Amino acid sequence: MADFSTQAIVLRTVDYSDSDKIVTLFTSGYGKIAAIAKGAKKSFKRFGGTLELFSLVDVVWSRGQRKGLPVLKEATVIKPFDRIRTDIFKTAYASYWSELIYKWMEEGQRHYSSFELLTHVLCSLDKDEIDDDVISILFQAKFLALCGFSPNLERCSVCQKPLDAFSGRLIEFSFKKGGVICLECLGKKGGMSFLRGTVKQLLWVFNAPLNKAFRVRFSKKSKEEAIRFIEAFVTYCFDKEFKSLKFLRDIRGAT
Ligand SMILES: [Zn+2]
Repeated sequence: MADFSTQAIVLRTVDYSDSDKIVTLFTSGYGKIAAIAKGAKKSFKRFGGTLELFSLVDVVWSRGQRKGLPVLKEATVIKPFDRIRTDIFKTAYASYWSELIYKWMEEGQRHYSSFELLTHVLCSLDKDEIDDDVISILFQAKFLALCGFSPNLERCSVCQKPLDAFSGRLIEFSFKKGGVICLECLGKKGGMSFLRGTVKQLLWVFNAPLNKAFRVRFSKKSKEEAIRFIEAFVTYCFDKEFKSLKFLRDIRGAT
């Protein structure tokens, strides 16, 4: 049987039978794959600590017999991202991003740009050089864009008036229209409003290439607004409940 090898991020693992585990991987070459890791639960020797959540690994797998799951044959750690797993906020963020990928990606659908994005943000989160909240804003913005859900932050979604010509201190955003709305076109309020500066910062995050987008500087208020907005917009666009997002909000509220 032919073997396949690829880089992958470990998205989730569940115990299966007395000795095996089912591992869901987000791979660079084959998209999301669920594979069976035989002996992973019982014998530590077989896979050692290679199948820890969020680790970047090199894997070798083969297609299972008939309709069975693919079989994971080897796994070697490239980056363990230990720092993430020892910090509750970092774990919560990595869990949320993994859940987004897990729930949105079809099995076997290759999506290299998303793999590259997830790897990039996990590296940043592990290095501790940038604010975790800002990394999460960047991940969500870029992932939304890759999935075709970029919000319209430049012009009124109704009359096309440019943002700079909007009156008022606060800018209104309509989830239904997927963009900002000027006060003249705003009917019944039902979206979200935020500071003009927040919209400008978000525009930069959405439009700049990833390495430049990382240089964004949010004020405290803008960062709070951007987090609130982007997490709500992600939930709206993907139309899914994210358990890990609820956990993230709970621990934020507890500090
Ligand atoms: Zn308008």
